[in-house]
Amino acid sequence: MAVIAERIAAMGTENAFKIGDDVARAQARGVDVIRFTIGEPDFDSAPHINQVGIDNILAGNTHYTDPAGIKPLRDAVAAHVRKTREIDVDPRQVIVLPGAKPAIGYSMMSYVNPGDEVIYPSPGFPIYESWVTYLGGKPVPLVLREENGFAFDAEELEALITPRTKLLMLCSPSNPTGGVLSRDLLERVADVIRKKAQPDLRVYSDEIYEQITFDGFEHFSIASVPGMRERTIIASGHSKGFAMTGWRLGWTVLPNEEEAGLFKQLNINTVSCVPPFIQEAGREALESPKTTKVVAGMVAEFKRRRDYVVPALNDIPGIQCNLPLGAFYVFPNVGDVCREIGALDFYETLSEERRARTSPATLLQRHLLYYHGVALVDRRSFGVLGSEGQHFLRLSYATDMDSIKEGVARIRKGVSDRAGFEKFTRDAEALGV
Ligand code: PMP
Repeated sequence: MAVIAERIAAMGTENAFKIGDDVARAQARGVDVIRFTIGEPDFDSAPHINQVGIDNILAGNTHYTDPAGIKPLRDAVAAHVRKTREIDVDPRQVIVLPGAKPAIGYSMMSYVNPGDEVIYPSPGFPIYESWVTYLGGKPVPLVLREENGFAFDAEELEALITPRTKLLMLCSPSNPTGGVLSRDLLERVADVIRKKAQPDLRVYSDEIYEQITFDGFEHFSIASVPGMRERTIIASGHSKGFAMTGWRLGWTVLPNEEEAGLFKQLNINTVSCVPPFIQEAGREALESPKTTKVVAGMVAEFKRRRDYVVPALNDIPGIQCNLPLGAFYVFPNVGDVCREIGALDFYETLSEERRARTSPATLLQRHLLYYHGVALVDRRSFGVLGSEGQHFLRLSYATDMDSIKEGVARIRKGVSDRAGFEKFTRDAEALGV
């Protein structure tokens, strides 16, 4: 009998967390590393929010709560969603969770039977694919295209929907591309769903970056399209927009009270509840007028960095980089670099078994980390299915401007270092496969 259960082998991971091991190994080799891997704002949570958390702890607000979340926070979330999505929401549809991430697994457990199909963006947040395969669902990647600003065509989606499609995962603004889904596209998506999907299809709308948009683009939720609220799970939270990643606070709006009950039950079976002082601080974040200014300041700084990093990357021979309208990521195309530096050719020389564990962009990413001290995340980390032949890296610019400048200079040097890459291909630890 094996110690480890078989089903866990089907579960994936989030490499942005795991890459820390490689960074540590590179550092142990004496490499100074600039990290563009971090998926969280480099800002601290705001003082007025922190204070509410502290006051609540000192006042003894330290006990279990309703597993669905405290009423004042669910009221605040409902009010926020009513205002920003212009839809009717009852607080009984709101469930509070420790982060936006648990809502992904909760949705898969609540809606997906083995063999049911789940459509999800690729590149996309890796946890989508991870849960589908874990639960024995059928993963159906919806490949995002660079030429569309990393959106997709409604027709492409239509071609993937079958009578077994149970969940459609959407994410805007997107991790990893920073791309956004426009109102126009989401209205066409809603048309496609009405026309082609079976009535039980649910849309999972990951809106965790809702506050972080640029150039006048206004976040739009598919739940705002008439007829979609009743079949959409909105998932968002405090991690990104309010720089509260470590607080572990997220929320979901379920299509109805009954389905919200499933999430409550999953909370009861796992975390019981989010700590009450965290929920109170989260309520403050949503309700305090001070928050608007704090968020606007952070978004303005992200925009400043985006406006530096995109032209700087495009100035590097072999790199093409879109100008994203949201989040704090850019997703440069490094196909030409992979060819020029020899990553495509070297990849072809690997055994099938080793090829299955890497990609040309992964090789480039590891070369940049181990030989040039700059850490990015490879395309393959954002959904393996659909990643074949796609040569991209994700750069998170949630770090200070000096590091960004130095990091981009290292990328510039690294991508033209053919001799270094050659050496890298003979370095087992750096190769990693
Ligand atoms: N969805 C997406 C698209 C994300 O990028 C992240 C965080 N990297 C999450 C969900 C999870 O957010 P949280 O930290 O609130 O669980």
